[in-house]
Amino acid sequence: MTPYDFDLFVVGAGSGGVRAARMAAAAGVRVGIAEQDRVGGTCVNLGCIPKKLYVYAAEYAATPENSAPFGWRMEARGFDWPTLRDGAANFIAAANKRMETMLEKAGVRLLRGRATLAGAHQVAVDGQRYTARNILLATGSQPALPAFPGREYLLTSDQMFGLQQLPNHLLVIGGGYIASEFAGIFHRFGVKVTQIYRGELFLRGFDREMRQFIAAHMRRQGIDLRFNTDVDKVVKNADDSFTVLLNNGETLTTSLVLAATGRRPRIRDLGLEMLGVELTPGGAVAVDGNYRSSIPSVYALGDAIDRLQLTPVALAQAMALVGHLYRDEQVTVDYDLVPTAVFSSPPLACVGLSEERARERYPQVDVFTTEFRALQQGLGDGPERMLLKLVVDGDSRRVIGAHMVGDGAAETIQGIAVALKAGATKAVFDQTVGIHPTNAEEFVTMRSVTRRHGNG
Ligand code: NDP
Repeated sequence: MTPYDFDLFVVGAGSGGVRAARMAAAAGVRVGIAEQDRVGGTCVNLGCIPKKLYVYAAEYAATPENSAPFGWRMEARGFDWPTLRDGAANFIAAANKRMETMLEKAGVRLLRGRATLAGAHQVAVDGQRYTARNILLATGSQPALPAFPGREYLLTSDQMFGLQQLPNHLLVIGGGYIASEFAGIFHRFGVKVTQIYRGELFLRGFDREMRQFIAAHMRRQGIDLRFNTDVDKVVKNADDSFTVLLNNGETLTTSLVLAATGRRPRIRDLGLEMLGVELTPGGAVAVDGNYRSSIPSVYALGDAIDRLQLTPVALAQAMALVGHLYRDEQVTVDYDLVPTAVFSSPPLACVGLSEERARERYPQVDVFTTEFRALQQGLGDGPERMLLKLVVDGDSRRVIGAHMVGDGAAETIQGIAVALKAGATKAVFDQTVGIHPTNAEEFVTMRSVTRRHGNG
């Protein structure tokens, strides 16, 4: 019999924490989990799930126009924001309940309240102390705000899900996932959107050609996308609007300013300093390959550590950790081939290396691209096109990157990711029979090299 109240105490019931708690309980150990807010964490409550519901809502905006050449006569009678906002909130409340029930059924004890570390084997939840053989920090992340005068007026994505009413104009600061997704969503809701990004081209880290393609599409849709632009100052006006001074000397007036400028680990005031838990230079919990911190009984995963801030990554880490601690398994999470999607408008999805990154790593790189108008748009005259790309190692012929911009990109790339994970060569793609007519079949019908880098 263990001298501790729990074998594992998880701080934070988000995606990673809940998965770790459930899997550990299933492995037969006694698990407690503390949550100060709603069960489900960022993904369920203020991230992936409500965001994706909003993306679907945004996509419906194009239905009357897109279906007209197919014979439909639909009248768009406007967009009712409260219907979406409240519908999504109800959906999430039900998801919270389901997750609580799941924890209960798994035999995990859910403790409501704010947990802090009180020792290497001790946690305090709102003053009540519990002991645990191991403690897992799964506290997630929170928005990081830029520092300039008027930053107190900035909204983060957290607040965007509860707006009383839609703004007339939205200024989005940032060029990453959240900024690009929210710019597209709110534009389609009928809000005038300006997105500003401090660098020369947004979505840094993704394939350059894809980034340019998305930028062109967003601009064509009417999103005011400005690069090499940053904010110097935000001033609140008497009518509750904001005047934003930009670093190029321009000013603009807007109803709301959303800062989507990254997220940092939520680890303040947790008692980590007191315990001497080491942090990385970026302010995340430093962990080894088994998610163990500098204190041997304290582990951390998900957004609290400095790997990829993605829900499926946190889930994979949770499974790996529980496998290591309670199942005698040694599973490592492979960060190289993590597929990802930006649900921008149009969406982008990819797995593996961008063309630029591939050129840095491989002496010879073959690139196959295809750009076309989807059949679904075939009867209309809209400008929407799709762009698909395969990046191939010229020596081994392995496909080392797959990229797609256009409807269904995320659904398609999820399947392609399996092929890359299995080490498929370009010949395997070529030998795979397509499903006709689809957009995804283009991935197996690209025969001519678009560009060849290297000396081959
Ligand atoms: P990102 O890291 O994706 O993007 C942050 C953006 O803000 C970058 O363009 C960055 O510029 C810019 N930025 C950072 N600091 C400043 C500053 N001080 N002033 C001006 N601009 C600044 O973060 P997000 O906030 O968009 O999202 C957080 C994380 O959440 C993502 O990294 C992702 O892992 C996850 N996420 C995933 C989603 C998905 O899977 N679809 C959706 C939403 C979020 P620069 O490029 O120059 O650094």
